Amino acid sequence: MTDGQHVDGLLIDGTSRPGGGAVRTLLDPATGEPVAEITESSPAEVAAAVASARTAAAGWADHTAGERARVLLKLADLVEEHAEELTELEVRESGKPWATFRDGELPFAADNLRFFAGSARSLDGTGAGVLSKGYTSMLVRRPIGVIGSIAPWNFPLVMAVWKLGPALAAGNTVVLKPAPTTPSSTLRLAELALAAGLPAGALNVVTGGAEVGSALVTDPGTDMISVTGSTGTGRAIMTAAAQSVKRVHLELGGKAPALVFADADIPAAARAIAMGATYNTGQDCTAATRVYVHRSRYADLVDQLRATLAGIRVGAPRDSATDIGPLVSVEQRDRVHGFVERARKAGARTVAGGELPDGPGAFYHPTLIVDAQQDSEIVQGEVFGPVLVVLPFDDEDEAVRLANDSRYGLASSIWTNDVGRSLRVGHRLDVGVTWVNDHLPIASEAPHGGVKGSGFGKDMSHEAILEYTVTRHFMIKHSVFEHPASGSDTSSFRPA
Ligand code: NAD
Repeated sequence: MTDGQHVDGLLIDGTSRPGGGAVRTLLDPATGEPVAEITESSPAEVAAAVASARTAAAGWADHTAGERARVLLKLADLVEEHAEELTELEVRESGKPWATFRDGELPFAADNLRFFAGSARSLDGTGAGVLSKGYTSMLVRRPIGVIGSIAPWNFPLVMAVWKLGPALAAGNTVVLKPAPTTPSSTLRLAELALAAGLPAGALNVVTGGAEVGSALVTDPGTDMISVTGSTGTGRAIMTAAAQSVKRVHLELGGKAPALVFADADIPAAARAIAMGATYNTGQDCTAATRVYVHRSRYADLVDQLRATLAGIRVGAPRDSATDIGPLVSVEQRDRVHGFVERARKAGARTVAGGELPDGPGAFYHPTLIVDAQQDSEIVQGEVFGPVLVVLPFDDEDEAVRLANDSRYGLASSIWTNDVGRSLRVGHRLDVGVTWVNDHLPIASEAPHGGVKGSGFGKDMSHEAILEYTVTRHFMIKHSVFEHPASGSDTSSFRPA
């Protein structure tokens, strides 16, 4: 548990305690000041966490869907009851504006949990029938076993819920590793899950960086690895998991295009794209980062984006006037600024932001870039900060070609008043989600996940729970005494 200054580095078998690994100082991104210390888990403790999840697996899988749902519903209630405490932990380590988290992400996390609780109860009965003469087949979805879950730092609590919610709902047990810089809300969430009635061992938390994550991936006791993180991390995990033919669920990076057509409402598009590019200080895998606009509206959109971005208030998380807080760390801020400096060196221009602010904290002003080349780093790379680039196009085919010219394929948006065009263009985009005349909104019922370098597998929606199940086939012979006749049916086969 956390006493404010000290954060326990693991939760195994229902008990929180300091880990045996490295000591890390957790920093407030808004001030650069230490907020707490955590003694992280050692790789050996990962094995203990996996063993605990393995021991708990059969018992949790035997709970009825209704019993599992009750725990998740109770956890949702506890998340809301502990809203102030969870917000305090999240804000101090991520730098998010207090209200953005307290009134937005936290209630959404509770809604996700309630959705997964309901989804658990509509899981079974995926199929039954006579598929071969003389037999009845049943297809039953069963949990996969022990899930190793690895989360990023950009939405610590929400990502933890997206990991544990569908996995537990489907009857799996979980070992969850939050990102090293933002562990506290996840550790507290796991304690609340126990208080909600989750059996000890069904959810364990280990902390640390890539070494600890890697121990989770290679542990023979994990049956599947679910990771949200960068594409490079996903690739490394997929490679390691391949050694034991382990399932992977990969929610990776993004570089979402926004296609603005000549008939679009430019002021509305500028407002929503600016929001879509800067929400969570741009640290969002679906952020609107590549804006392609019809050449006839290019100057107008650039002007309006510049004005809108200038009005976004960058400030301290606890200041109610703040729209966006700092980036997660000074290292991340410097990484973002490096992208901008290299873009300028390559010939692009910044028409808003683009300078390192004075003073402490990892703040960075919304930055608008023009005159970049399609094949340049600033257009192709995931910056993960409040930086967007605008490029013109001449027709629909070119817009689609430029949008699809990316290693990523997670999110996109289309701005037009022509319904036919929105569908015509939307169907041609290689992405997981396309918004029309908006960018970013999500719902518990809607699947979230990408294609290409953005990974595969869905978070949220009923599809997420299916990701954490395996279909089992039971084939029951009607009579033990008689061999069913083969007849002329060629849709099934029985060896003689
Ligand atoms: P990251 O890839 O650096 O780390 C993600 C997690 O993986 C962390 O917990 C980290 O400790 C762990 N990790 C790193 N290397 C590992 C290894 N070799 N083996 C096992 N674990 C390892 O990502 P980040 O910087 O924390 O988060 C930002 C990234 O996450 C961005 O690329 C963003 O697009 C992506 N993201 C994707 C989604 C999505 O739904 N597709 C959502 C949020 C964030």
